[in-house]
Amino acid sequence: MIHAYIGLGSNLDHPEQQILQAMDELDCLPETWLSRVSSLYASSPMGPQDQPDYVNAVAKLETRLAPLALLDELQRIEKDHGRVRKQHWGPRTLDLDLLLYADQIIREPRLSVPHPGIAQRAFVLRPLEEIAPGLVVPGLGAIETLSAVCNDQQVRRIQ
Ligand code: ADP
Ligand code: MG
Repeated sequence: MIHAYIGLGSNLDHPEQQILQAMDELDCLPETWLSRVSSLYASSPMGPQDQPDYVNAVAKLETRLAPLALLDELQRIEKDHGRVRKQHWGPRTLDLDLLLYADQIIREPRLSVPHPGIAQRAFVLRPLEEIAPGLVVPGLGAIETLSAVCNDQQVRRIQ
């Protein structure tokens, strides 16, 4: 089994429910088990501020899916959420990012792992640190060190 970490984010249409439902869906993927989930965290949006705060979390999976097969599944779940929201509420409300896949470094057109931006985003680093203390992010270093560098970013644990 491979350990993989997934970053979940939402800021529309009941974000907390979006995230919790997506965690259930991750647990239902073929050859995949959800082994840990972080608390939910709230943060101000990056970029335009005229949108709701984000809710973020990180989930740890044990999986036998290959990296691109796992990405396909993540994009299918995003699309399922998007399709429902498109009918009732409008734009996409779920983002699923493959943060880490074992200790692999992957650079392919569709897939960069570790996820680009992981080291700059407290809303990813805080929940990752919560469920994986001592983790070393391949090519980037210890999670605690990365997280400390981002300590000017406001991230609030909500659950
Ligand atoms: P973002 O997550 O940067 O806000 P999107 O979710 O719309 O934006 O980006 C999706 C694109 O990023 C997809 O086309 C996907 O192929 C690509 N991508 C590259 N690396 C990853 C990764 N590690 N996890 C998720 N998507 C990735
Ligand atoms: Mg994404």
